[in-house]
Amino acid sequence: MKKIKLNSWGKFTDIDAHECNWKTIKELKTIITSNKSFIPSGNYRSYGDSAFSDYIISCKNNDSIISFDKSEGLLTVEAGITLSKILSIIIPHGWFLGVTSGTKYSTLGGAIASDIHGKNHHINGCFSTYVSDIDLMLPNGAVVNLRKEDELFKATCGGMGLTGVIISATIRLIKIKSTIVNQMIIKTNSLSETFEIFDKYSHERYSVAWFDSFSTGKNFGRSIIQIGDFATEGDLKFKDESVRFIPFKLFSYFLNKYLIRIFNFLYFYLTSSKKIQSKIHFTKFFYPLDKFSNWNKIYGKKGLIQYQFILPLDKSFEGIKEIFNVIQKKNIYPYLAVLKLYGKKNDNYISFPIKGYSLALDFKRNDQTLNMIKNLDTLVIKFGGRVYLTKDAQIDEYSFKKMYPESTKFVSIRKKYDLQDKMKSSQSIRINI
Ligand SMILES: Cc1cc2nc3c(=O)[nH]c(=O)nc-3n(C[C@H](O)[C@H](O)[C@H](O)COP(=O)(O)OP(=O)(O)OC[C@H]3O[C@@H](n4cnc5c(N)ncnc54)[C@H](O)[C@@H]3O)c2cc1C
Repeated sequence: MKKIKLNSWGKFTDIDAHECNWKTIKELKTIITSNKSFIPSGNYRSYGDSAFSDYIISCKNNDSIISFDKSEGLLTVEAGITLSKILSIIIPHGWFLGVTSGTKYSTLGGAIASDIHGKNHHINGCFSTYVSDIDLMLPNGAVVNLRKEDELFKATCGGMGLTGVIISATIRLIKIKSTIVNQMIIKTNSLSETFEIFDKYSHERYSVAWFDSFSTGKNFGRSIIQIGDFATEGDLKFKDESVRFIPFKLFSYFLNKYLIRIFNFLYFYLTSSKKIQSKIHFTKFFYPLDKFSNWNKIYGKKGLIQYQFILPLDKSFEGIKEIFNVIQKKNIYPYLAVLKLYGKKNDNYISFPIKGYSLALDFKRNDQTLNMIKNLDTLVIKFGGRVYLTKDAQIDEYSFKKMYPESTKFVSIRKKYDLQDKMKSSQSIRINI
């Protein structure tokens, strides 16, 4: 066990914690059955406090391949493996992840615990769609093998580490013939046009929109929509791009002074035509932010908040408009806004996605933003939506329970398996589950 200073991707606080690393199942059992409470951690790519606790069971060093069936596309790996390492192994054999997040530096354990989703949720659902089974260690040291129909599977996927330690899992992969993505970029002039384009191309596997958070009036909701799928021709070489380091003092200056309008610049000058088709390497298509190792530091000492909410399909238009009314009145604009279309909800008790639209908004963290977000929570509840727990660092118990009505089932499972006193994070204490 070693003492560490903890910080999440939102960089909003340093907390003193004890991190426990382990090599064997026996060592993990000794740690988890001691008289302390724990939360597991992966690579700390979550934005808030879901992997924060006094005592942390780190899984990052447990990243071995257990088996890889290259003809069937079935991979069994330890939970600490990053998506990047998985890709380096599977791509040369013509396989890809069924679902990936916007960073390839999440671990498998983190991907399952957050039940991550990508640009293809409207077609393929969450990460758990592709998880065949999970080996989970409970706080009594027992290792259980979970399958889709098990209640503990449904609680573990999206369960934010609160059901035990994911040791390993088997995932199904999807076939690809190339690392190139055929991409189409479409510029829209309003929110209704943005929704129309998402709808029109909803048969395409991947889509996402960069939403102009400064647009107003009839142009409100104008966006650049990126649509694509893997090409059938190209090579299958995995090559991780070189990661750059932003001189963040310079960028903090830009962020304050100029970057706030950068979207408009990109929108009007770089995307000159209404529709552009191109071929793009998958790393650029799926992981544009991974290019810079420290972009999260440009928000300054207090860090950043990513407020990601989702609203049901029939309420998305009205809800996004009302939420932006508040943002515009308060004059606190997000620096980045990403809009995605989602398909139907899965059976997991506290997974984030429901059928509708989600917006992820990156704000500079300060008291005014936090106050405004409290108002936004009220609106998200009013429209029947919810915020994403892996990005959250501030919702209260009341809001969480309103947003996640199936959390009662989740809590009853926590009671049934004696998880409540042993598996805790700063987030689970705050929202009282
Ligand atoms: C640039 C960027 C882009 C992102 N894009 C997306 C996106 O498109 N879609 C999306 O869904 N998410 C996205 N995320 C969020 C990220 O994918 C999740 O937060 C993911 O859970 C991080 O994985 P991690 O290994 O770093 O986990 P951590 O941050 O270390 O932990 C996250 C949660 O997982 C739990 N956990 C971790 N390992 C285990 C384990 N072995 N057993 C049990 N529980 C465990 C922790 O307790 C915690 O609750 C993005 C994050 C970044 C930084």
